[in-house]
This record gives sequence, C-alpha cells and structure tokens, in this order.
Amino acid sequence: MNTLKIIELLKKNYPNAKYYLNFSNPLELLVAAILSAQVRDEKVNAITPNLFKKYKSTKDYANADLKELIKDIKGITFAGNKAKNIVNACKILIEKYNGKVPDEMEDLVSLPGIGRKTANTILINAFNKIEGIPCDTHVLRLSFRLGWTKSKKPEDVEKDLMKIIPKKDWKKIAYLLKAHGRAICKAPIPYCSKCFLNKLCPKKGVTKKL
Ligand code: SF4
Repeated sequence: MNTLKIIELLKKNYPNAKYYLNFSNPLELLVAAILSAQVRDEKVNAITPNLFKKYKSTKDYANADLKELIKDIKGITFAGNKAKNIVNACKILIEKYNGKVPDEMEDLVSLPGIGRKTANTILINAFNKIEGIPCDTHVLRLSFRLGWTKSKKPEDVEKDLMKIIPKKDWKKIAYLLKAHGRAICKAPIPYCSKCFLNKLCPKKGVTKKL
C-alpha cells in the first residue's frame, strides 16, 4: 500500500526527525507550544532559554507582570495575546490542577491558547500519550498533496490520517512530514524533481513544481 511505503521512505530519509521545540518539562513545553503558533520553531528556541531561566513555575507565570512578559518574548508574533494566554493558562493550572500541566485532552483544550493540535503535541511529547496526530501547517499541506485527505481543516485531516496511518506511527508522522515539508515539499512550490516520493505521490493541488 502506498501510504505504508511512503511512511517507510520518510523514516529512511529522516531517521533523526524529532520534535523541534526545546523543553525540559511539561510547563516549558506548554509555554513554548503557545509561543510557537505561526512562528518558526528556531525563533521560539532562541528566546526560551532566558525565559525558562526567569520563569520556572506556573506561579511565576501566573504572577508575571504582563508588560514585562511581553518584553521577555519580544520578537514573537502576537506577543501580547500569547503572553495573556500564558498568564491565564497558568492561573487556571494553579486553581484547578494543583499548578501542574494536566495530561488529559479535554483539560488541555480548555486552557487559553491551547487547541487540539497543541494539546496533542503536549500529550505526545511531554507525557508520551498518543491520542491523535498534531496537524501543523506542514502536516496539512503534505497530507493534501499526498492524497491522504481531501480536506484542509485540521480536525478533518487528523481524522483522515488516523484512519490510514498505523497507530504505532502517529507520534512520528508529524515529525516526518514536517521534516519533508521543510526540506523538499515546500510551500508554495514543492521540489518534486528532487523528491524521493515522486513516483508514489499524486501531487494533489500542486499547480507549480520545481
Ligand atoms: S512529489 Fe512533490 S508534492 Fe509529492 S511529496 Fe514530493 S515534493 Fe511534495
């Protein structure tokens, strides 16, 4: 089956594909994941070392001066909203979860700034709990081009992927598609001539290719 062959080739070509954001505990991942919406991971990784040194607990973020926190995440898109979400999410963590990041999907998506994609990311990478597939922009674009889905809506794409990708690969597939999206299957124009999936890929929606 093409899907399994494609997964095998992605694994072979990106043996070191992994989650890109740096973190050392669930709270750091939650903060980094909120910051990463519509921002390159490298940019988030550049500011988080100092941020994590200054703010070490949910209490530190919950009690943070908003203006100061916005300054501390300077350069991140939508810094104002993201800082507010971090502070409010941490207030809820203190009120309802004993200051800890919960490890249940429905609890995570109830927090400000956390949608299903980010919740999946936190569950997988902080708790090793695999309930779904985080669909970021690379996963959405490549899944469509590969013909794995006809939708561009994250919730529908995730359902389609969960039907055709073996569960043992749910954790890895997002890393693999992201690696391929960054290296070859780029937006807006993919390098199909250089792509090891060229013969297997239906190239859905691709109007221009290199
Ligand atoms: S063949 Fe083209 S569209 Fe298909 S995965 Fe490769 S680069 Fe992307």
